[in-house]
Amino acid sequence: MQTLRASKCGLSTAQLPSSILDVIDSLTKAGYEAYIVGGGVRDLMLGLNPKDFDAVTNATPSQVKEVFGRRCRIIGRRFELAHVYSGRELIEVATFRAPPKKAITSAQGMILRDNNWGTIEQDFARRDFSINAMYYQPRKDEVLDFCHAYDDIKDKKLRLLGDPTLRFEEDPVRMLRTLRFAAKLNFSIDPEILKIFTPEMTNLLRDVSPHRLYDESQKLFTMGHLHRVMPMLIEFGIWKQLFADITPEITQFIERAAKNTDQRIQIGKTINPAFFYAVLLWNNFQARCEFYQGKGVVAAEARAQAGLDVLKRQATRTIIPRFAETFIREVWEMQSRLLSPKPQQIEALSSHARFRAGFDFLLLREKSGDTTTNGMGAWWDAYQNMSTDEKERAISSYNRQRAKSRKKVADSVTGDKAVVDESKSASTHIEPLVKEQESRNRRSRSKPNSSASSGDFRSAKTTVNTGEITADHPITKRRRVQRDLTKVIFGPTQ
Ligand code: ATP
Ligand code: MG
Repeated sequence: MQTLRASKCGLSTAQLPSSILDVIDSLTKAGYEAYIVGGGVRDLMLGLNPKDFDAVTNATPSQVKEVFGRRCRIIGRRFELAHVYSGRELIEVATFRAPPKKAITSAQGMILRDNNWGTIEQDFARRDFSINAMYYQPRKDEVLDFCHAYDDIKDKKLRLLGDPTLRFEEDPVRMLRTLRFAAKLNFSIDPEILKIFTPEMTNLLRDVSPHRLYDESQKLFTMGHLHRVMPMLIEFGIWKQLFADITPEITQFIERAAKNTDQRIQIGKTINPAFFYAVLLWNNFQARCEFYQGKGVVAAEARAQAGLDVLKRQATRTIIPRFAETFIREVWEMQSRLLSPKPQQIEALSSHARFRAGFDFLLLREKSGDTTTNGMGAWWDAYQNMSTDEKERAISSYNRQRAKSRKKVADSVTGDKAVVDESKSASTHIEPLVKEQESRNRRSRSKPNSSASSGDFRSAKTTVNTGEITADHPITKRRRVQRDLTKVIFGPTQ
């Protein structure tokens, strides 16, 4: 172990928020050892802006609770942790951990339950990468480096502590972390890791809880280097573990959306990680829509069913939370509303809660060469910057164009020259994008329901009616993924 002068490694207390200093100081005053550890130390050394700061101490969670009283909450099952509220911020305070006991690992060697307190040396050995295992005591201006981690920082090298095979077997999520840190920090991956990073190894991710994989996918999407990590997911065989049935190919649309996400993060704009799921699953959604329409299901119903199907399938890998699922389906539904809006509804649509996301999605499609948007991305783009008069003129011109093309279609299909002028009858009211009933109760999706509402059936054979799924619906024939929860690896806070 070497003790480094923190100021020589580019660290100083001036870079630290008062919340983490408060936690370190309070624990030290109470007679405990306390350090900043992990990504915060690493990122500061690299001149990056740390996402957060984690603390580690020799005080047990209940001792931490004694120090901070009502400002502290003990959380976690597999890993018991203390959450300390300091001002508006929350600091995670972990206790030094010893190696897990054999009795609580699964047959495959995966750690299931793990509250075995230990020394700082033991705690160090359990961390993943050397660069994540430096202990910074800001008041002493010291960094404890047990493994020449600072050299790896300087060499921009990602090195796992211990035997890489064992470390991946213990927690397969470390494979995702490898790619995330390599992409985020632009570090090279140690050849010892590359040697064992095989498709067989990535298969271990099958046993990781889909909740944890969703969390990890969010971290990949929001780290600011999504564009860089996407091809790596394919190269290392992680893609097919994370995304059910999504063709492993970086389409122009995916590439543009990934770059766009990174840019937004760079300039401090908010991003909704579910948006990128909407992008990834878009082709599957469309294919599924076509499938239902091919069976004679009306378009709106086909979209509703396709959305449910595609998300359900993806949930076998990453469980997307309900609110994110609703967001994704709304973005998809917005596509058809924005593609051929009823003229009376244009203004209302442009102030709809989901307009921005739907429009961004449409524009990304258009800019990545999707001609099926009929130029409506650019149309809406221009529309938003118009004065009221210009908007009126734009709507009239759109209306004329629309009537013309509808007439053409009607002429060619039926020979009937009378085209209904919807603009006289349609209301300005916008129907909900996703039916409440579908989004509120996940169970209702798979339960047959006899009280079906107004459905339009073109084919007697189809089993699909309105939001209900009957027993012979294709979804119900899918193999259910049964998971033995005793074998599932839970995340640190689950
Ligand atoms: P960032 O917060 O920038 O994503 P981080 O390194 O801080 O990166 P966290 O997930 O916040 O990552 O974890 C904090 C620290 O806990 C890590 O730096 C590492 O030392 C340790 N750690 C986290 N996950 C694992 C894991 N799966 N295996 C071993 N150690 C881990
Ligand atoms: Mg962190």
